[in-house]
Amino acid sequence: TEMGQIVGLAIEAACQALIEAEPELTELDRITGDGDLGANMKRAALVVRSKVESYPLDNISETLRALGQTLRRELGGSSGPLYAVLFLRIGNVLAGSGSTNAALWIEALDQGCRAISELGGAMPGDRTMLDALDPFVKSLKKVEGGLSRETLLLAIKSAEQGADSTAQMKPRLGRSSYLGDRVLGHPDPGAKALAIWLRAVCEILA
Ligand code: ADP
Ligand code: MG
Ligand code: MG
Repeated sequence: TEMGQIVGLAIEAACQALIEAEPELTELDRITGDGDLGANMKRAALVVRSKVESYPLDNISETLRALGQTLRRELGGSSGPLYAVLFLRIGNVLAGSGSTNAALWIEALDQGCRAISELGGAMPGDRTMLDALDPFVKSLKKVEGGLSRETLLLAIKSAEQGADSTAQMKPRLGRSSYLGDRVLGHPDPGAKALAIWLRAVCEILA
C-alpha cells in the first residue's frame, strides 16, 4: 500500500542519515563518551536497511516492533536497549489501531520517552537522547488537531534545539558522566543522533 511504501521510505531515510552522520557522531562520542556511537549507529543502520523489505510495512505497529528487535540485537552500547524499548513501546501503544490517529501517535511517543526513562533512569535535562525526543513530543502536544507538515517541521526544530542545548547540560548518567565538565560545550551524541534520523523521517512524512 501507499502507507507501507512511506513507512519503508522513512526507515530508509533514517538509516541513510545515520550512515552519513557517522563521522560527526564518532567525533562527538570520542569527545564526550567512548567514541563508538557513530560506528554502532552506522552498522545497525546498514542492517536495518537490508531488512526493511522483510518488515510488515503495511502494519506500522508490527514494523516498529520488528525494528525494535533488530536494534536490540544489532545496535549495542547503551543506545541498543534504549532504542529497543523505545520502538517496542511505540509499537505496542499503536497496536490494533489504524495508526494514523494523531492523538494516539502522540500518546505512543510519550510512552516511548517513558520507556527510555524507566529503563535508563534518565529524565529530560540529564544530557541524553531524551533531550531531543522529549521536546519533539512536547511540541507535537501543543498543536490542536492533526499532524500537519508545519506541525512536524516545528517539532523537528524543537528536537534539534533540544539536542544542541545538551552542550550546556551536565551529564548525570552513562559514560559521559565519568568525564564531568570536560563534555561541556559539546552536544550529547545520542541526542544529536536522534535529531538527525528524526529529521530524515519527518522530511519523508511532511
Ligand atoms: P555507550 O556509552 O555504552 O558507548 P552509546 O555510545 O551507544 O553508549 O550511546 C551513548 C548515548 O546514549 C549518549 O550520548 C546518550 O544520549 C544515550 N544514553 C546513555 N545513557 C542513557 C540513559 N540512561 N538514558 C537515556 N539515554 C542514554
Ligand atoms: Mg559510546
Ligand atoms: Mg560503548
